[in-house]
Amino acid sequence: MASPSHSVRPATLLAQLAGAIDEATGGLVPALQASTTFLRDPDNRYRRGFDYGRDANPLTRLFESVLAALEGGAAARAFASGMAAMTAVLRTLPEGAHVVAPRVMYWGLRKWLQKAAARNRLCVDFVPIDDLDAVRAALRPGVTQLLWVETPANPTWVVADLAALAELAHWAGARFVVDNTVPTPLLTRPIAFGADLVVHSATKYLNGHSDVVAGVVVTAREDEFWAELCRIRHDEGAILGPFEAWLLLRGLRTLAVRLARQCASALQLAAALEGHPALARVLYPGLASHKGHTIAARQMQGGFGGMLSIVVRGGAEAAIAAAAAVRIWKRATSLGGVESLIEHRASIEGEDSPAPPGLLRLSVGLEDWRDLLADLEGALARTG
Ligand code: PLP
Repeated sequence: MASPSHSVRPATLLAQLAGAIDEATGGLVPALQASTTFLRDPDNRYRRGFDYGRDANPLTRLFESVLAALEGGAAARAFASGMAAMTAVLRTLPEGAHVVAPRVMYWGLRKWLQKAAARNRLCVDFVPIDDLDAVRAALRPGVTQLLWVETPANPTWVVADLAALAELAHWAGARFVVDNTVPTPLLTRPIAFGADLVVHSATKYLNGHSDVVAGVVVTAREDEFWAELCRIRHDEGAILGPFEAWLLLRGLRTLAVRLARQCASALQLAAALEGHPALARVLYPGLASHKGHTIAARQMQGGFGGMLSIVVRGGAEAAIAAAAAVRIWKRATSLGGVESLIEHRASIEGEDSPAPPGLLRLSVGLEDWRDLLADLEGALARTG
């Protein structure tokens, strides 16, 4: 594969996959190279840079180089899922390490952290991440190893002030890690705000077609922590496979146009739904009424993302009934795909969920927003 060029704007980099051309054929689409093992040179070296599929494969490496360029990082490693990527970061920490994490975050990782704490594998403090005094109080200078942030955060879209949190983390001597799944590097580049590591579930917007499970970690610099993370992926083998990487690269090429439309539609929907008599609240960082709006407006460029939540006045029962009555929205988990999804989060997340009982999470796809609005309004009218 010809070496990628990174000196262009994100939409150009994405559309042309950083200029990657298949050298053998001139193909504009990268060839699917599925080999798990690679030929040694006669002098016993591997000059082409590949030896064994648990370490790297050409398509996964191309995806990593595009993500590192998009995030403004030094390097990236792709994993078999978002959770594999995120837990690899956390497992790089020594036994008993102190971690500060948000109360509102992807529930799967919150549960993982709670279990790690219950087994004394890690010591975790969960804090309201939009309260800088609470974060400062939880950080233990010289002890805390990692501050974890997701912004805007599932499922109420709490906004974290990345620049202020990076400063706090570094004051305490901790690494600052940002889950950038929801905004993607097109809306927010956490490394520019001081993040040390950026993680993604690439299953969501980066792929965008609900047909690949994948994850990635991007580092601001190649230091000892990064070397240990690379060792974990190599030794334990949670690498992204070539078939998934091929599909992911196919999806990634259209991220800029998909996300622009998703942001525009989400804003239209949020504005149209705010004040609806059946709804107690509409949660979307693009609304002036949202607690994190000012920070989001400063920190996010080109839109406020494709995710919002509505809180149905009638509580859990009314929300579940409304989700059952839609005809266009799909009742399904996940986010960031071309099709719009609706989900009652408290049912999924269980008792300690920060989601109010009436909360429905909406992942806005590529349908016409007016159809999506009419469908939701119809469902609320039929069940309200
Ligand atoms: N982070 C966020 C914000 C997510 O929404 C998810 C999945 O829903 C994950 C991480 C986990 O990613 P994966 O499902 O690819 O393991």
